[in-house]
Amino acid sequence: QRALLEQFRGKPSVSADGHQVELVANIGSVQDARQAHEQGAEGVGLFRTEFLYMGRSDLPTEDEQFSAYKDAAEAFGQGAPIVIRTMDIGGDKELPSLQLEKEDNPFLGYRAIRICLDRPELFKTQLRAVLRASAYGNLKIMFPMIATLGEWRQAKALLEQAKQELRSENIAFNERIEAGIMIEIPAAAQMADRFAREVDFFSIGTNDLVQYTMAADRMNPKLGYLSDPLHPPVLRLIDQVIRAAHKENKWVGMCGEMAGTPIAIPILLGMGLDEFSMSASAVLPARALLSRLDREKLTFLAEAVLDLDDAEAVRSYVEQHVPELT
Ligand code: PEP
Ligand code: MG
Repeated sequence: QRALLEQFRGKPSVSADGHQVELVANIGSVQDARQAHEQGAEGVGLFRTEFLYMGRSDLPTEDEQFSAYKDAAEAFGQGAPIVIRTMDIGGDKELPSLQLEKEDNPFLGYRAIRICLDRPELFKTQLRAVLRASAYGNLKIMFPMIATLGEWRQAKALLEQAKQELRSENIAFNERIEAGIMIEIPAAAQMADRFAREVDFFSIGTNDLVQYTMAADRMNPKLGYLSDPLHPPVLRLIDQVIRAAHKENKWVGMCGEMAGTPIAIPILLGMGLDEFSMSASAVLPARALLSRLDREKLTFLAEAVLDLDDAEAVRSYVEQHVPELT
């Protein structure tokens, strides 16, 4: 099994009919970046930067963040895409340095981009660090928990401010760095056509998108039957987001757990997802599966599942129609 997978290390990620996608990793530290590279990932689709802020009483400095982002990029080498997500700390995580108030509904609360836009000095430190590291690799910047166009535009304006500061200080960065958003709130998924005109890319965060679409706390094990990305309401949103991005010639990835799940890969490939970001250990199995799938045939499957009743029906439909899964 292991040896079979080995042949897919360092290979491009292509379907049986020659359609190429990107298989990249979700990481949460520089150490993860090195491991993900060893495990065959082509880059990073989600660098969760929360580790820099957690378990300490002060805030991480610009230099400290710069080193972490640069080291992650260098673990992969030139050209590999590295998507850095700005901090996604929420009311459910203790953060002594920010003195966040306790909330009744932390998942619906003061978190992520909402904190960053409220505390621009804190946000700009991170933006400057990412920009500086972009001189050393193919870094991209991604904003989490975007609900409105206004939030995106404010975040983008602060990014432009940070760029302007660096220019006036003669500090190098990639002038053409891509900036995109996570689609993990149904409001943003519904407005994807509007966002697509302005962003460089989308990355669909199904962990939260499922939670908010199904109104089911992602941490509650009793709600497993609801916390399933195969539910057609979720699939319809995903399909809508991919179409909206492609209409504006933007690429679209996915960094929720769904992207690395074998049963979901044929659907997502059929819908035309461009980038799949998953835990590093899922990359080689996903590349092996992809090599057996025919993308052209799966476009029909991707449409058919949108009309089914629920996740269970989708699961059995895919199992029946995709023999390559077994
Ligand atoms: C998601 O919400 O799908 C996601 C990838 O982000 P996180 O799991 O960090 O919330
Ligand atoms: Mg999320």
